Amino acid sequence: MALARHINFFELQKACALPGCPLCRIVADRQRRYIDNMLFEHVSDRGFRAEYRAAGGFCSAHAQNLESFRDGLAVAILSRDILDDRLQSFKTRKPWNPKGRCPVCVERDHIEEEYLSFLAESGGDGPEETEFREAFTASEGLCAPHYGRLLVTVKDKPRRVPQWLVDFHQSRFEALLERAGQFIELSAYGRQDEFNHLPAADKIVWKELAVTLRGGV
Ligand SMILES: [Zn+2]
Ligand SMILES: [Zn+2]
Repeated sequence: MALARHINFFELQKACALPGCPLCRIVADRQRRYIDNMLFEHVSDRGFRAEYRAAGGFCSAHAQNLESFRDGLAVAILSRDILDDRLQSFKTRKPWNPKGRCPVCVERDHIEEEYLSFLAESGGDGPEETEFREAFTASEGLCAPHYGRLLVTVKDKPRRVPQWLVDFHQSRFEALLERAGQFIELSAYGRQDEFNHLPAADKIVWKELAVTLRGGV
């Protein structure tokens, strides 16, 4: 397949050169663009406004930076609908239970699906696949949530998760497990000297562990 002609190829390759899970980085960028785009161009779009309202607004993770967006009017228009609905539920003492899903969460699921499917197709041994594999294995690899999702997403389809991806992540997670064990062991009383001789990255392996399990940039 023409892997290199795929737009995802370049985006992933670029993200692989930066720290952290490449997919988390792409998702963060695209989510930001999505919110920006929705606030600037689609706030008057009835479909989007209805979807936003049905969801009770963005989820708290995606609403986090709403007050820092440039377009106050867009935020005000969207938020007024939500406050109106909340006020109704306060008056009637009914629990607040929006039926829709946060539109950014929906968009994020699509983005992840798109890139995970792309990764699942990177198993060949042509020059493009080799180039991609080299870039990817030089990165920190997928976080645990994204790797878990890759295995689940691709499992039931005729294609399989390419073996190089399995081997790469398996050995990364195993190495991390071992380094975490060593960190815990050498944190014990009387082992300060050995702890001091650990490589710098191993002295703060708990941070790497937390980010790997959570994902995010
Ligand atoms: Zn990730
Ligand atoms: Zn969300």
